[in-house]
Amino acid sequence: MYLTKKNNFFHGIVFHHFHDSKNHMKSQGSISNDEFYKIIDFIGKKNILNSEDFFEKYHKGKIKENEVCLTFDDAIKCQIDVALPILEDLKIKSFFFVYTSMFEDKPDNLEIFRFFRTNCYKDINRFYKDFFKSLDKNFENFFIEKRDIINERKKRYPFYTHDDLKFRLVRDEYLREENYEKVMLDLMKKKNFVPEDNYKNLFFEKKDIIKLDKLGHSIGLHSHYHHTKKEKLSYQDQLEDYSKNKLFLSEILNKSSNYIQTASHPFGSYNQDTLKVLDNLGIKLAFKDSMLIEKEKKMKRINNSKFEIAREDHINILRRINL
Ligand SMILES: [Zn+2]
Repeated sequence: MYLTKKNNFFHGIVFHHFHDSKNHMKSQGSISNDEFYKIIDFIGKKNILNSEDFFEKYHKGKIKENEVCLTFDDAIKCQIDVALPILEDLKIKSFFFVYTSMFEDKPDNLEIFRFFRTNCYKDINRFYKDFFKSLDKNFENFFIEKRDIINERKKRYPFYTHDDLKFRLVRDEYLREENYEKVMLDLMKKKNFVPEDNYKNLFFEKKDIIKLDKLGHSIGLHSHYHHTKKEKLSYQDQLEDYSKNKLFLSEILNKSSNYIQTASHPFGSYNQDTLKVLDNLGIKLAFKDSMLIEKEKKMKRINNSKFEIAREDHINILRRINL
């Protein structure tokens, strides 16, 4: 049974990566078609609303506590190849939140790096070996300094291996964004990996967005550049970013600009300016990426506003099924 005391309020379920035996390799956090069916079964199909019904019922204040919707972030091709046939089979219309910089040949590097380490290495440990080898010598001291943090995180995230945690720490706190990109680009060069050759297998194409829309799924904003920290941008920069996203999507769909009315916050990052931006762009409903009531975001309750609808991650649901 999916609903518990902790989650018996309406919300979205957020999906990212899927794998199959053909084009999409298994990667951290990815699920198979069987697992996708399992999750839907576990939630209970009767509890899952079509995206348009969710939207309408929300605005009429009529969503019941047990009702959820399915949402897909980041415009990744595996969603089209693996998840969409199942959604169509079960007749579940869903939300797809699409960032659009890939249509300017500037997709999110994080997605490319993930693809690279999944497809160019036999397993993640070989990637870590290569990655750590390519760093300068100081990083050993860095690990010694951060030993307590690693141990603390081990308790918090028991599903991560020691190397998973080391990698994340180096990426986020030792190298930081720019240097991390440099290290990854070097590794990619050494393996003769050309990102552009893989775009088709990795990201939505325009025709995928058109297809989803024609099938009755809802296309929503996810910002143009998939920044990890949207909340650090000024109001003006956020407005430009989301406006561009909206323009791209309405042009691809050949619809008027008020056709798109929903959004999700990339990496769950937003501030009060973001909410104003969404409002000014005519957005009527937006989703967070977690079930947390975040005090620093001035949230007072779950589903705090029409732009802060909670979502549970598919990985957390799968973990509960497998307990
Ligand atoms: Zn995202």
